[in-house]
Amino acid sequence: MKLYNTLTRKKEDFEPIEEGKVRMYVCGPTVYNYIHIGNARPYVVFDTVRRYFEYKGYDVTYIQNFTDVDDKIIKKANDENSSMKEVSNRFIKEALTDADGLNVKRATHHPRVTEEMNNVIGMIKTLVDKGYAYENDGTVYYDTKKFDEYGKLSKKNLDELLEGASERVDKDEAKKNTTDFVLWKPYKPGEPKWDSPWGEGRPGWHIECSAMAKKYLGDTIDIHAGGEDLIFPHHENEIAQSEAANGKPFAKYWLHNGFIMIDNEKMSKSAGNFFTVREIAAEFPYEVIRFFILNGHYRSPLNFSRELMQSCQNGLERIKNCNTDLKHYINNAPENGTVDENTEEITQFVIQFEKAMDDDFNTADAIAAIYELVRFINKNNKNNVSKQFAQKEMDVFEKLCNVLGINKEKEETKSDDDEAIEKLIAERTQAKKDKDFAKADSIRDKLSSMGITIKDTRHGVQWFRS
Ligand code: AMP
Ligand code: ZN
Repeated sequence: MKLYNTLTRKKEDFEPIEEGKVRMYVCGPTVYNYIHIGNARPYVVFDTVRRYFEYKGYDVTYIQNFTDVDDKIIKKANDENSSMKEVSNRFIKEALTDADGLNVKRATHHPRVTEEMNNVIGMIKTLVDKGYAYENDGTVYYDTKKFDEYGKLSKKNLDELLEGASERVDKDEAKKNTTDFVLWKPYKPGEPKWDSPWGEGRPGWHIECSAMAKKYLGDTIDIHAGGEDLIFPHHENEIAQSEAANGKPFAKYWLHNGFIMIDNEKMSKSAGNFFTVREIAAEFPYEVIRFFILNGHYRSPLNFSRELMQSCQNGLERIKNCNTDLKHYINNAPENGTVDENTEEITQFVIQFEKAMDDDFNTADAIAAIYELVRFINKNNKNNVSKQFAQKEMDVFEKLCNVLGINKEKEETKSDDDEAIEKLIAERTQAKKDKDFAKADSIRDKLSSMGITIKDTRHGVQWFRS
């Protein structure tokens, strides 16, 4: 299995750090708005990467954060006269609604920076203690000159960066070097704040991912992923922070998706040329959006257009019709068919599919393999194959579609978050039995703040994400 590693600019064989396990971290969105189709690309692409590893038998721990402290969230809260927490809670819920619609599996954990402040501060402290960071008037900066390998991911040379930056006028006198970046910024009125050894304030953006990856996955992880706009400075800075603090390599493989474009320009919130997933989902089913994203190679630019969406809808329809027809066929098929059946023929499609996916997750070719399987199945239905053979076709068809997430699974695997929710529900049930209604209510409130609604029924408690 080969994947393209941005760190080496080469396709490399995948070798896990620990046999049978994949630890991966994907940078998540900053939550002040609905996600747009561009943001949906890393969601869908890296979910598919995860599914393929799982298909291959790996045990995957998948972490995706929500950035819930940020200038843009604070601004939105001030504009709306609400709080940062209210804004971020609302858009986390909306992002998860879209992710569910796109059939993106929940991450093992979805940490939020507001809930990880001790780890974030702890890591900044380590960097200061080790001499990689310095404080100036309540601001803590990372000293990029102290990290010899600064620039190794983006292939930028520190001296050139320094030269380029020095030409700009907005020089920040408080920094030692123009390339230094903020780890902690001091409190300003109207902003949220936390206590720290450098006074009240809040963290910079880059440090949260280093701190969360360490907490949930350890010092060295297998895969770190995100959109290609994150290579510099975000991922470069994550490497500088994590490797300096932990004294170990951070991530073995760096994966980056290309952009979704509109009229040959990157779709982005700041440029205003974006469509939210929610808007497009009003015109096309969510699953067509997923299918559209997987129709291109994840590293290539992908142009968004309604014509392309329409042709994807037609293509997906063919695959879904095959599913419906095959189900019907199996329900009515004779036990023994009339044609010579060769199971090896089905295996050919699996080989073709895996060959595509093993080549740096070439989902476009993997979809081509599924189309060929569809043609094969449709032909066999006409030729009156046996029920057993049709069932074998169905098994393969479902297995391959599930890797791409284009045929919803019957049963979703439980995430650690689900287990935590069920544990809270059990505690609440116990509290009610013990007549400790205050505790029961406070657990219900906690669940509700997590976006979980519970319903007491005669057959126990049901819960769902609202
Ligand atoms: P943001 O909320 O802007 O930090 O973006 C969240 C994720 O979406 C990051 O991994 C970005 O790299 C990715 N992203 C943003 N815009 C696009 C785009 N037009 N195409 C593909 N990925 C994007
Ligand atoms: Zn990140």
